[in-house]
Amino acid sequence: MRSIRHSIFGGLLAAAALAACSGSAMLGGDDDGDDDTSGGDAGPGRIDGGPIINPPDGLGPWTGHDHVPWSQSPPGGLPADRVPQFVSFGFDDNGYSGLEGTAGTGGFSWSVAMAQSKHNPAGSGEARNYDGAPVKFSYYLTTAYIAIWQSESPTYVKRAWHQALGEGHEMGNHTQTHSHGAAFDKAHWGQEIQDCIDWITKPFDPAEVNFSPDASKGAGIARDVIYGYRTPFLEYNDATFGVLTDKGFYYDTSIEEGWQEDVDGSNMPWPFTLDDGSPGNEVLVGWQLDPPKEHLTSHPGLWELSPHPVIVPPDDQCAKYGLGYSLRDKMHGIASWFDVGSGKVTGLDYNLWVQFKLNKAEFLAVMKYTLDQRLAGNHAPFTFGAHTDIYSSKYTAATGASDIERQQAVEEFIDYALSKPEVRVVSNKQILDWVRNPVPLP
Ligand SMILES: [Zn+2]
Repeated sequence: MRSIRHSIFGGLLAAAALAACSGSAMLGGDDDGDDDTSGGDAGPGRIDGGPIINPPDGLGPWTGHDHVPWSQSPPGGLPADRVPQFVSFGFDDNGYSGLEGTAGTGGFSWSVAMAQSKHNPAGSGEARNYDGAPVKFSYYLTTAYIAIWQSESPTYVKRAWHQALGEGHEMGNHTQTHSHGAAFDKAHWGQEIQDCIDWITKPFDPAEVNFSPDASKGAGIARDVIYGYRTPFLEYNDATFGVLTDKGFYYDTSIEEGWQEDVDGSNMPWPFTLDDGSPGNEVLVGWQLDPPKEHLTSHPGLWELSPHPVIVPPDDQCAKYGLGYSLRDKMHGIASWFDVGSGKVTGLDYNLWVQFKLNKAEFLAVMKYTLDQRLAGNHAPFTFGAHTDIYSSKYTAATGASDIERQQAVEEFIDYALSKPEVRVVSNKQILDWVRNPVPLP
């Protein structure tokens, strides 16, 4: 095992003392797996010239008792060319509404408006594969933004979040205070996560006064549609997952998987449950990060939708993706721990825009190349971690591109993804629904 570096993160809203998430990086490990979510042979599948696929039985309604091993193979024993290529954007924090009156544009409202014009490829009209369905995002909310007046009045933030809920986006939990929690005990994690739930679920009042926020009002999101959690700074410990299990979360999306040396852009693991721990976490434990990761105990039934590293194009592919120079060499020059051999970077927009100061063309090259590796490989979901705040006119830490260029880059990538017939840009909850009860493409 080699080792190179450790975690990075930075202040997102400097004035607000709440910061962006960001993770770790390095190499090592040799885990492998090849299990399926389900077996079964419920009869012949449809045939459109391809091989006969027996639809997998699936796991049925969620009960909290799934047990699905870590695997690089698609669920249900399906071949990669018969499963959708899922792409998700999980936006964290979400403190800049972008609404008129907030002295800022873009941000949260930009993402919601952008999704309104996007639809997934028509496919064969199979609703369970999201054929032709509108694009949806996942938002992991830090509720300090609706509890405390920071960059803007909480009234605006609540209004923006509530609108997104109404448009069918997924709303998840990103704690109340966005603190560094690697050393939190279970009670502390429980407080952070429950406070967030409490604020999210307070009733929404469309008449709440713009500049006189009412602490009895919230985003009006029902508890039973809060399925997912991402931890701030990707910092967690074993207690984090005990709390998530106790509180009935379906999934976590905090543990990086894919830094193993034998994992590349074409064979990232599919979602799995934490009954048997996380091989990716064991790699991070071995890196002796600061703060350190710890070994995980069993957390039965809790799904992990890992944020995988993105892959920077190798030198011989840069021209194809519009770059006339070695992006890996450039990034190694910025951070010496960046491994030019694997080209892996933590799969969060913060790392690309802020840590490495990428410009629009470079960001697009990394995103397109990463997706193309998936499409040529096992079609594991591309679950990208992002921050709507980075696409706000208020955001000044991403100096390689303007706010408008950053917005354009994301939108152009989504349009590129949607040009691929097998891609579906959906929320993480929608990915999980499919993984639990997979339906083959024709
Ligand atoms: Zn965050």
